[in-house]
Amino acid sequence: MEIFTKLQLPVVEDRLHGPNPAVSLNATYYEGQRVVYGRHSNSTWEALETLIGELEGGTAAAFASGQAAMFASSLLTAGRLVISEDTYVGSRDLADFMVKNHLAQCSYVTEASLRTPTELTGLKEGDVLMLESPSNPLLVTYDIAKLAQACHDRGALLAVDNTVATPILQNPLSLGADIVVHSATKFISGHSDVLAGMVVVADEALAERLFEVRAVVGSVIGPVEAYLCYRG
Ligand SMILES: *Cc1c(COP(=O)(O)O)cnc(C)c1O
Repeated sequence: MEIFTKLQLPVVEDRLHGPNPAVSLNATYYEGQRVVYGRHSNSTWEALETLIGELEGGTAAAFASGQAAMFASSLLTAGRLVISEDTYVGSRDLADFMVKNHLAQCSYVTEASLRTPTELTGLKEGDVLMLESPSNPLLVTYDIAKLAQACHDRGALLAVDNTVATPILQNPLSLGADIVVHSATKFISGHSDVLAGMVVVADEALAERLFEVRAVVGSVIGPVEAYLCYRG
């Protein structure tokens, strides 16, 4: 303190609290008296998660990439991943990879059957129906509320990849979807300098499972990347 006064520099009482979150580069840190390992949580992730959670209206978890966020979403229930044919190529690659390597059961649904949700008779209890609306790159849109109802009637969950719309233009949870996925690499970060993903859920049990999946799989985002997404 004395040196600041001598040099007539302003004394900053608390450099960590300002409009931007601190970038917490800590693999372990204190939470009260407890030491926490950095694969479970990080204060910079939490700043981003609070922001995206507020924008989407749910509990958010940040991931290393959109692909990691998709993979985590497929692990939230015990059933199949039923995925729209009209999705980003990486999402179809993930579904194909999981089937080829016996990691999960996945199947595709056509645009036509997503238009008439009463025809989604193949959906079973515990399945996750994953779609993009608007889709990348064709920008096809679907009736999210109707599809959410069709999923819930069959005991399935609806996941919507909201990357293209962003939470500024559309909030799938408010339309009845159970899971929202983002490739934050795109508009959320917005500067082509980061790979990141987000998953947002409304249900508390799903949120718990989501954080468990991330900690166990280790598909965590770096604190600098989380900061860049927050800034974006
Ligand atoms: C890019 C993209 C993904 C994959 O995200 P990455 O951050 O590249 O892993 C998933 N869904 C959509 C719609 C995308 O545009």
